[in-house]
Amino acid sequence: MTGGSGQSGATTTRGQLVDRFGRAHHDLRISLTDRCSLRCTYCMPAEGVPWLARSTMLSTDEIVRVARVGVALGIREIRLTGGEPLLRVDVVDVVRRLAAMTTPDGAPVEVSLTTNALRLPALAAPLRDAGLRRVNVSLDTLDRARFLELTRRDKLVETLAGIAAADAAGLHPVKINAVAMRGVNDDEVVALTRFAVERGYQMRFIEQMPLDGGHTWDRHVMVTQAEILERLRGAFRLDEVPGRGAAPAELWTVDGGPATVGVIASVTAPFCGACDRLRLTADGQLRACLFSQAEVDTREVLRSDEPAEAVDEGLAAAFHACLAGKKAGHDIDDPTFLQPRRPMSAIGG
Ligand code: SAM
Ligand code: SF4
Repeated sequence: MTGGSGQSGATTTRGQLVDRFGRAHHDLRISLTDRCSLRCTYCMPAEGVPWLARSTMLSTDEIVRVARVGVALGIREIRLTGGEPLLRVDVVDVVRRLAAMTTPDGAPVEVSLTTNALRLPALAAPLRDAGLRRVNVSLDTLDRARFLELTRRDKLVETLAGIAAADAAGLHPVKINAVAMRGVNDDEVVALTRFAVERGYQMRFIEQMPLDGGHTWDRHVMVTQAEILERLRGAFRLDEVPGRGAAPAELWTVDGGPATVGVIASVTAPFCGACDRLRLTADGQLRACLFSQAEVDTREVLRSDEPAEAVDEGLAAAFHACLAGKKAGHDIDDPTFLQPRRPMSAIGG
């Protein structure tokens, strides 16, 4: 097929991104950096992790090129993540260039961002003007001392200011992500939901996954979706929202709505059967899943001396090779499960 993305260059001779289980892929998560301004315990050890070498990280032109080929193959949504994506100095430019793309049938590509919010007071308005649609912000606690303990940085006030800046800039709906942790913040499930509902934000709780750089995850202590819902039902009336589609979060209306609360139950109720996501790491590796052991390199293709058309063909082939290796599910519960070599911060959550 020949596909266009609204910008020249992305011509492919292969088909759409459908894997061997019939799942069509429309969502590309792009990690802009593995560096971060926080050190959340469920993600990174205090000392950080060995950072990717700068020379291996994709330039903005390279990211845009991979994305353009992906869009020609059926990608419709791009979420920027990291590490902390707002640490990338040219993040506004990246957003502007990605948001200018259109799908082969002429629709604009939807660009959103997952962030710790620390740079949003300065960047929310420029990002919106560049075409950013929405943000997901991580906020695991409303207590300053806990925030310091959990992220190893005293930045609650700045995070809250960042969330307010996203709201003021119209980056709606503002979604708040919290990883529920036993004995750390599981007693704040109701308070966090109230905080979000009162401000018109959407609260999402995430089951902790075995992706931390410190390899401290323990199946037996993680807080399950069932426990989260039990706590919420003690304070609110929850009604399930039907029609989840490929979304990772299962949603409930809070006290009759319109506010909703969601749970991303990656461990106890995996949603792999409807997965439509692929990932590109900051150093140019395509991954079919957060938990993949395999990666397909785009950097060598991008940096080859081949003519432009051959490079685009090579990138399309990389997308298809990545999909060909995609498994039916993540198998966290299988005794042979191995935590991926890369931590979440280097994959892109
Ligand atoms: N720095 C940004 C942030 O924190 O939102 C973007 C990157 S972060 C890796 C993306 C998401 O992954 C965040 O919502 C974070 O809470 C989540 N996350 C990180 N480690 C996790 C883990 N071990 N289990 C579940 N979620 C995790
Ligand atoms: Fe940084 Fe996000 Fe990981 Fe926290 S979860 S350390 S903010 S990348």
